[in-house]
Amino acid sequence: MILVMNYKASENDINKAVKQLEEWGAKTTISKGEKKTVIGIIGDKKALLSKPLNTLSGVEEVLEVSAPYKLASKEFQEERSIVDVNGVKLGGSHKCIIAGPCSVDTEEYVMQTAIAVKKAGATMFRGGAFKPRTSPYTFQGLEEDGLKLLAQARAETGLPIVTELMSERDIDVVYKYTDVIQIGARNMQNFPLLKEIGKLDKPVILKNGIASTVKEHLMSAEYIMSEGLKDVILCLRGVRSYETAMRNVLDVNLVPYLQKLTHLPIIVDPSHAAGKREFVSSLGYVGMAAGADGLIVEVHPNPSCALSDGDQALLPKDFDYLMDKLSKLESWNQEEWYDMDTNK
Ligand code: PEP
Ligand code: MN
Repeated sequence: MILVMNYKASENDINKAVKQLEEWGAKTTISKGEKKTVIGIIGDKKALLSKPLNTLSGVEEVLEVSAPYKLASKEFQEERSIVDVNGVKLGGSHKCIIAGPCSVDTEEYVMQTAIAVKKAGATMFRGGAFKPRTSPYTFQGLEEDGLKLLAQARAETGLPIVTELMSERDIDVVYKYTDVIQIGARNMQNFPLLKEIGKLDKPVILKNGIASTVKEHLMSAEYIMSEGLKDVILCLRGVRSYETAMRNVLDVNLVPYLQKLTHLPIIVDPSHAAGKREFVSSLGYVGMAAGADGLIVEVHPNPSCALSDGDQALLPKDFDYLMDKLSKLESWNQEEWYDMDTNK
């Protein structure tokens, strides 16, 4: 349920409405748009059924949100969300390219990569210090030592860092170093973990699960948002299908589709979709052309020595090429299309 405030509603009206709703036992969240403010009511609303919600001062209408992912839905917030990571913006008209190694390995490689991707125009740096590996006998990540190397790369380049959190056990240490928390495909439906990160104040990149549906992806975003965090970025990293030619199938058709359902920023991960270096750049290009707000791409200066996903790591020169191509690309704007389309 949402309370849409009228354009004349004052700050005082909004605060009073929130206070009253909370006194009636509701949990609320606010979305302030350019044109209107919406108060979202989360959780059990039984207690509110008999209350005179539309008589609260400043309330224009009380609406039921039909989507089950309420806070993530366009019904709750029409305008596209913009996530601000230490001044680097993502979403709306702000495009953001995140690049770096799959796993943090040596200081030399990490620094070399960070400097190279920054020079090419990347706006954030990625690297895994806790790695979800199919085999328990392969490299599992450098853990805190890896996080320290990421912090060193940030100090050198100024790029905010993105790293994966796999378990509730590691929240404190990951929180201490990172700017953006990545939730990987394997944890998309780890609900206790999603709830815990929703209580924090760092933006989250939520990847789709390997066989998840759009609705499941959005419901997982909702788990995070229902705890209070607004800065959730959806990431499409491909899904498993009967087609085994590439590592995954990049469901790039979901970029415009998701934009219709949600205000959350959407990025594409062409690396885990392609699985092979030679296909990564074209998938990234297609993702941006489809209107994604950004990419997350794996880059390594010496892929044969990478401790994970070397086959899909772009060399810095490949990344330069991709960035050059992207700089000339005019990406699709689905919202402009909706505006033109009288049947929307
Ligand atoms: C990664 O980003 O290195 C990773 C493990 O991704 P995913 O969760 O998409 O497999
Ligand atoms: Mn990887």
